[in-house]
Amino acid sequence: MKGGTAGPCLRLQSVSVHYGERVAVNDLSLSVDPGEFVALTGPNGSGKTTVLRAVLGFHDPAQGSIELFGRPTADLSARERALKVAWVPQTESPRDNVRLYDYVLYGRFPFHGPLDAETQEDHAVVRRVLKEVGLADRSEDGVLSLSGGERQRAILARALAQSTPLLLLDEPTTHLDIGHQLDLLDRVRSLSRTRRVAVVAALHDLNLAARFADRIVVLSHGRRVADGTPSGVLSEELLARVWGVVADLELDRRTGLPYLVPRELSVDRPRSPTSPFVGPVHVVGGGGAATPILRALADEGYRLTAGVLHLLDSDQETAASLALPTALESPFAPIGPKARSQNRLLLEAARAIVVAPFAVGPSNLANLEDVRPFVPRVPTFLFRTPPIQERDFCDGRGEVAWRDLVAAGATEVDGFDGMSEGLGRLFSSPPATPPAARVAPAS
Ligand code: ADP
Ligand code: MG
Repeated sequence: MKGGTAGPCLRLQSVSVHYGERVAVNDLSLSVDPGEFVALTGPNGSGKTTVLRAVLGFHDPAQGSIELFGRPTADLSARERALKVAWVPQTESPRDNVRLYDYVLYGRFPFHGPLDAETQEDHAVVRRVLKEVGLADRSEDGVLSLSGGERQRAILARALAQSTPLLLLDEPTTHLDIGHQLDLLDRVRSLSRTRRVAVVAALHDLNLAARFADRIVVLSHGRRVADGTPSGVLSEELLARVWGVVADLELDRRTGLPYLVPRELSVDRPRSPTSPFVGPVHVVGGGGAATPILRALADEGYRLTAGVLHLLDSDQETAASLALPTALESPFAPIGPKARSQNRLLLEAARAIVVAPFAVGPSNLANLEDVRPFVPRVPTFLFRTPPIQERDFCDGRGEVAWRDLVAAGATEVDGFDGMSEGLGRLFSSPPATPPAARVAPAS
C-alpha cells in the first residue's frame, strides 16, 4: 500500500465550497482514517458530490483546508493525487467497447510516464482486481457487452487498479437493482478491510449506509449534522428532520444494525368525480427512474400515486416531496404481500398507469407483474428507453413481464412527449392546475 499510514488519509477543516452565490458545502470538518469505511449521506442536493469533487481538486474551497495524507491537496500534482486517491464518479459509463482487461489497465496510468510500457506488476494488479470484483472470466469481453451490474464492477475495478490507499465513490449503486447494490458494497467493504483502504462513499440511501459503513456522516444543506456509528446516528428524529420521512427504527436481529421501516400507508381512496385534478395517474418506478416523470406530471397538474417504492429510494424521496400516496416497502426487502396489496389499491383507483424505465431485479419484478391485470381496463404507458433488455437484472424475467404488458395492450412510449400526448388524449380536457402544486403559471 502506498501513502503514509500515520495520521488520517483525509482531513477537511472548516471547508466551504460555493457555486457563485450558492453555498454547497458549509464549514465542513471531517477526518478519515486508514481502513475506515465512511458513508457520506444526505438527501439530494445536500453537498455529497461537491465534497468528493473538492477532495479531488475539482473545486477550490472558498474557505478551509483539505489535506490528503498530511499534504494540502493544492500542493499535489495530478499524478501525485492519482497515486493517493481513486474515484468512481456517479455518472461514469464506458463509451468505447474496449476490452475489459484494457479498460482496467487504464487505472495503472498514474504509475507510468506516458510512453512507458506496462510492467509485470501492472498486469498482476489488473488480474487481481478483476478477480476481486468477480469479472476474471470476462476480461476479454468488450466493456459495453457487460450487464449493468458488471459494468459498475468494471468501473470499480479500474479505480481499484490504481491501488490507492483512499477510494472515493459517488453513489456507486444508483442504476442497480438492490441485489447488485448489496453485492457491490459488500465487495468494497471487504476490500477496505483486507487492504486497509479508506473508503468514502456518497450514499443517498441511509439504510445502505448503515449496513456497510463503519461511520456515517450526514449532510444537510452542506452542513454536517451527524457523524458517528450507524447505531449512534440513525434515528427516527434524524430521518424526519433531514429527509422529511416518517419511519420506525428497528434493529436487525441478525446484524444488530438499525433499520428503518416505513409507516403504513393510509391509502388515498379514489376521490369524488368532482375532484379538481385529473387522474389519478399511478406511476411505477424505482431507483430515480420515475423522478423526472413524477415531476413532469405534477407540473402538468395530474393527481398522482406511486408504488411500490423502497423507503429512501430517490423516487420515494420525490414522491414524498410531492406528498403522493405511495405504496412502500422496507429497504432491501423484496416487495412483499402488504406493499403489493397497497399498490394494487392504488392501481385499482388509477385512471392511467405510467411505467418508468426502472431497473428490474428479483426484488421488484412484482412491480411489473402486478400491473398486468390492470392493463385491459386502465390505459398503461411504458417508457421503452433504455430498452428493458438493458435494465433486466433477473435473467430475462423482466423482459417476459414487459412483453406480457405489451401483449395485453399497454402502449410503449419513447419519452415525455409520447406520454403527455397519450395522457392528454385520454383525459378529454387538459388537466386543471392544482393551485398548490404550481409555482410558475403555464406558458
Ligand atoms: P448531492 O451530491 O448531495 O446531491 P451536490 O453536491 O450535487 O449534492 O449539490 C449541492 C448543492 O450545490 C445543490 O444545491 C446543487 O444544486 C448545487 N450544485 C451542484 N453542482 C452545481 C453546479 N455545477 N453549479 C451550481 N450549483 C451546483
Ligand atoms: Mg451527488
